[in-house]
Amino acid sequence: MYTQTNERDFLFSVYTESERHVPALRQWAEKGVYRNPLDNSLMINYPPITVAPPINPADYATFEQALSSCPDCGISLYVHIPVCTRKCTYCNYYSLVGQKVSDNYIDLLEKELAIYKSILGAKPVTIRSIYLGGGTPSLLSTKQVERILGFINKSFQVQDGAEISMEFHPELVNQEKAAQYLQTISALGVNRVSTGIQSLDDGVLRAINRGHTKTEAMAFMDLITQQNFQKVNFDIIYGGLPFQSLKSVYETLKHLLTFKPTSITKHFCEIKKESVDFCRYKSSTPLYPSWTENIHTQTLIDMFLTENGYQKELLHMYTSVHSLFSHQKQKWSQRETILMCLGPGTYGWIFHNNTPKNLVLYKSFSLKDYENMVLNNIIPIERLATLEKDETSRRHIQYALNYGYIDKTYLQALIDGAETGTGKEINLLINKLEDNQFLNQTQGCYKISALGEYLSDEIKALFASEDALDRRPGDDIHAAHHWYPNTDLIRRFKHIILHDGNYNSLTL
Ligand code: SF4
Repeated sequence: MYTQTNERDFLFSVYTESERHVPALRQWAEKGVYRNPLDNSLMINYPPITVAPPINPADYATFEQALSSCPDCGISLYVHIPVCTRKCTYCNYYSLVGQKVSDNYIDLLEKELAIYKSILGAKPVTIRSIYLGGGTPSLLSTKQVERILGFINKSFQVQDGAEISMEFHPELVNQEKAAQYLQTISALGVNRVSTGIQSLDDGVLRAINRGHTKTEAMAFMDLITQQNFQKVNFDIIYGGLPFQSLKSVYETLKHLLTFKPTSITKHFCEIKKESVDFCRYKSSTPLYPSWTENIHTQTLIDMFLTENGYQKELLHMYTSVHSLFSHQKQKWSQRETILMCLGPGTYGWIFHNNTPKNLVLYKSFSLKDYENMVLNNIIPIERLATLEKDETSRRHIQYALNYGYIDKTYLQALIDGAETGTGKEINLLINKLEDNQFLNQTQGCYKISALGEYLSDEIKALFASEDALDRRPGDDIHAAHHWYPNTDLIRRFKHIILHDGNYNSLTL
């Protein structure tokens, strides 16, 4: 499909497109606003864990009241399987290494769901989507998957045709009867599968301790695309993997497309303090792609996938015709949404137009604490944030921007719903982002521009409140496990963009 000549032409057009943006990005970088793996500002959940206060007994009553008084707006259910066979060097997620998923852990998940059920009582509740994530859910036996889906179905009404997602690790291909495992998973109702391929470069895979080779990953993709799953997603990582080059990302993408996945998700690598890569990056930075290479790579992914018929549906996801998965859609696009999470180290929320309260919760990181609380009939929440109107508006804007755009009418409603000072700040930020060509207006929406995409996570984080950016002593351990912005960088960016000024001039 790709001859040497058109490959050269294509890569040349990638350089040309990237270089169109480099001067502006360099100017921002010289002012201390840039993206690199140590300073990434991706914030998946808002407000971040550091702002959510430790839960107290009165908060449980608030949580239970909020959950039980919500009308049936549909629940997205996330089930965490915190076990991996090894630790990838870039990983800071909560997962236990080298253990099997015990039946005792599945008992705890069932018990935790029963606690939610007892809070909800006889109230009709619909599950809109189920997501088995990790960790490595493909370490579950088929019996365990059957048990989990069984007790969910027994407890709640699962919507007809609901999306049921499960994450896989390519190492599964080495398991005896892997094809049979996948067939059984499909027969149990899992209709969307997501696999962290990350890279198809053996040098990179070895360096990040992925535990599979390119050949094994290819064999796995072959196997999984032969099954009857409606949606198949492959994840790739760029920006902070050692030995990764533009050419190796290009080769990875070419191979991925031969399997015709329904979506590909790109992740800019975050290197957090809790990961092995944190020290290696600091001591051996030349092993990692440079700032300029990362810009080229992002352009390459975008151009390659769009030229091959994929469309961007979220800032980081490319789908073949409208195959965005509903779990994400509900997470990012709705004002009335409940995310219920089972397992330790996860997060959830209840948003229902401020009635009675909008809540964001973070679960305990300790498996022991999780177990003790569940066995004592307590939802194992460690921290709970109550969002007033201002924080709710700030959160919804960030989530909408994660789609890549925000509808102007919706934005105005969020501004009107906030206190005057916050509304003014949001308005000013939108105008200044547009002046600086980070946002464009199109078809009644503000859309993150081609330039803005290189700083999209940082742009979203500008809408965080001062309180959310405030670090307190002892916050580091929480920030290391969760998506947490570089607060200095975001404050600097906000100051410059709001006041048209310079901050401390820094070098790259
Ligand atoms: S990246 Fe995924 S597979 Fe690797 S250690 Fe982390 S959770 Fe486990």
